[in-house]
Amino acid sequence: MNNCPICDSKEIKNNSAGLKLCNGCGVYFFGRQDFAEPLYNGKETDVYNKSKIKLFNYGLKVLNSCFPQKGRLLDIGAAYGDFIKLAKKAGWQVEGVELSDKMVQDDRQKGLTMYNKPIEDLDLKSNSYEAITAYEVFSQMKTTRKAVLEIYKILKPQGVLIIREFNSTFHIKLLGLLNMKLFSFLNLQPGITHNFNFNKRSLEALLKKAGFKDIKIVNSRSTMGDPYGTGGKLGSVFVSVFKTMYYILSQGIYYLSFGGLCVGSSLVVVARK
Ligand SMILES: [Zn+2]
Repeated sequence: MNNCPICDSKEIKNNSAGLKLCNGCGVYFFGRQDFAEPLYNGKETDVYNKSKIKLFNYGLKVLNSCFPQKGRLLDIGAAYGDFIKLAKKAGWQVEGVELSDKMVQDDRQKGLTMYNKPIEDLDLKSNSYEAITAYEVFSQMKTTRKAVLEIYKILKPQGVLIIREFNSTFHIKLLGLLNMKLFSFLNLQPGITHNFNFNKRSLEALLKKAGFKDIKIVNSRSTMGDPYGTGGKLGSVFVSVFKTMYYILSQGIYYLSFGGLCVGSSLVVVARK
């Protein structure tokens, strides 16, 4: 792989953590696909629902304000359908995409319409959806750029895409701390990497190239609690307090830089076709 899979730049260098960094758009990537059904050992409700409920409500609020008359909504990476069930209650016609057979089976039993293939392989009808959402999915895709082009194709003109992604500006920095003795002693696991690790600049590059406009990227509120058990010996209360304090700090930096700097642990993108 010679060019950046997001922006096509040839300026790629290797990073010490085994990642490649593109100087063109700032994305860190592995250049492999690593979708595997994650195992949360009984913590699925925490991971997919409880910890994300505020994020889902925020997304729904944005969509409801863009489309008071509602419309068709497709959620990519729908897991157990927690977001689309909320949207359905609010009056949206909902569908989901999910790669896990087990989850799809579960969702279909609940009466939800689910597709069981990557979005780029579904070839859904052009100009069909008012809204498409993808919570922490872009980072785990194989051919992200192809997927974004497909999303653009199936959105109606003026349709809205909402993405939530881990922010590499935060996570890649934290990975560097993992070698510190204190962190390993406390069994803290604060930094995470996926196939693609985006920051504000690389998400913007990806969407602009596909044709999206009115791209707005802000710090995302964090998930609630510590569903992934990253806090080690310090526990979930510590993680919750840290996440809240860090969110406030990142918002301070955001406003002081007039929206230029997003250092939050995750980002939310709202863009229009
Ligand atoms: Zn790039």
